Formats: sequence, C-alpha cells, structure tokens
Amino acid sequence: RLEIRGLVRSYGGRRVVDDVSLTIRPGQVTCLLGPSGCGKSTTLRIIAGVEMQDAGEIWVDGKLICDTVFRIPPERRSIGLMFQDFALFPHLTVADNVGFGLRGSKPARRARVMSLLERVGLAHYADNYPHALSGGEQQRVALARALAPRPKIMLMDEPFSGLDNRLRDGIRDETLTLLKEEDTAVLLVTHEPQEAMRMADEIALMRDGAIVQRGAPYNIYNAPVDKAAVAFFSDIN
Ligand code: ATP
Ligand code: MG
Repeated sequence: RLEIRGLVRSYGGRRVVDDVSLTIRPGQVTCLLGPSGCGKSTTLRIIAGVEMQDAGEIWVDGKLICDTVFRIPPERRSIGLMFQDFALFPHLTVADNVGFGLRGSKPARRARVMSLLERVGLAHYADNYPHALSGGEQQRVALARALAPRPKIMLMDEPFSGLDNRLRDGIRDETLTLLKEEDTAVLLVTHEPQEAMRMADEIALMRDGAIVQRGAPYNIYNAPVDKAAVAFFSDIN
C-alpha cells in the first residue's frame, strides 16, 4: 500500500508538483494521466527516491519511507521501477538481468528468475543477451526484472511508449495480468487517455502539478471535471 501526502516540488519558483496526495492499495492500478509537462515523471521520481520533495510524505505499508528530514534510500523502498528507456544491462544475459540485485541462495534466485521468464514466455532466451531480443521481448524482460524482488509498489513511467502499436496491446494486457497476480500496487504514468482507460482501476487526472480529478475510469470519462478534461478525453472513441 502506497500513500503519498502533500507532495510538493518547485523548480525556480514554479510548483511542478503541487500538493499531490494519493493512496494505492495492493493489486490496484492507479493511472496518473495528464498532458506533457504537468509533473507526472517528477512525482514518480520523488516516490522512487531519486529526487527530493520540498514538502510531503511517502508511506509504504504504514511505514514512513520519506519526508523532508527522514529518507530511506531508493534501493530499500521495496519499489520496482519500469521506465520508458528500460535499459537492460547489455553485458548480462537475460537471466542475469532479471536476477540482478536479487538476494538469497543461488538456486532460489535461479528459480525466481526462471519462473518469471516462463511467465513472460521467454524462458528459452534465459542465456541469450538482450541485443538478440526484439523491443517487445526486451520490455517483457524489463518487467520480469522489475518484479523479481517482489516489490510492493511498481512505478511505471510510460513503459509502453517505445513499442509499436501491434505489440503494445498484447504486452499491456500481459503486464496487467502479471501485476495483479503479484498483488502489486501500481502507479502508472501516461499521457494517453486510452491507455489509462484500459489499464486503470483508478485515474488521477493531473494538470499543472496538481491532481484535478480522481475516480474510476468510467466516471472520469463520463463526467470530466471541466472543459480542458473534456477536450483531453475527446480523442477516444
Ligand atoms: P511528459 O508527459 O512530457 O513526460 P511530465 O508530466 O512527466 O511530462 P515532468 O517531467 O514531471 O513532466 O516535468 C514537469 C515540469 O518540470 C516540466 O515543465 C519540466 O520542464 C520541469 N522540470 C522537470 N525536471 C526539472 C529539473 N530538474 N529542473 C528544472 N525543471 C524541471
Ligand atoms: Mg514524463
């Protein structure tokens, strides 16, 4: 369970993240949806711990992991990351990419790696190097790698935008199924309303750093908060 409260971040006097609060339960996908530059990635970077907030708190399963004085480092937050440039390590095999950073005995790590690779349909590539895989396959390896340490939270920043349309729908659905199976709380960033409608249990509509509306996709689509939101959704049919 991820809870963020009153997150604020300014650059040069401009509030890029402006009092953002959110709660995401295990197995729930919340989509942060909004136009380019509204502060989505900055919000994610703060939660991941690679950037500091000016105000606000982040809690995971009822434990404070970060406020403005106390700060657990990124690698100890039980947060998995999947960003657009998913950057697999080119010098490591697929299996070693997925197992990177896993703890435990060698057989236990191997078992976890292979079960995830089987789950994404790539067990036969375990000993290949990433360059031998297609973009979609690399994406699935990145998903397996992000899930390997069983993170409670998964942060995804436009993870499907590098894929062509033909691949995208399939991988989206697979990813969603796997995240639900693992009971992960997911915060997914996108600027595509259609992607949010497809993936989300809840949509949080962001604009100029603030969340202007949140709720079930159906409700947001049917009753957008204002004209700008209507226009934003109008491409969908
Ligand atoms: P996109 O959909 O294009 O990825 P976004 O919603 O993810 O947009 P952010 O990357 O969070 O937007 O950026 C929000 C605003 O903050 C932008 O105007 C950006 O220029 C500014 N910004 C982000 N990082 C910095 C930084 N390190 N220094 C100064 N300004 C920044
Ligand atoms: Mg972004």
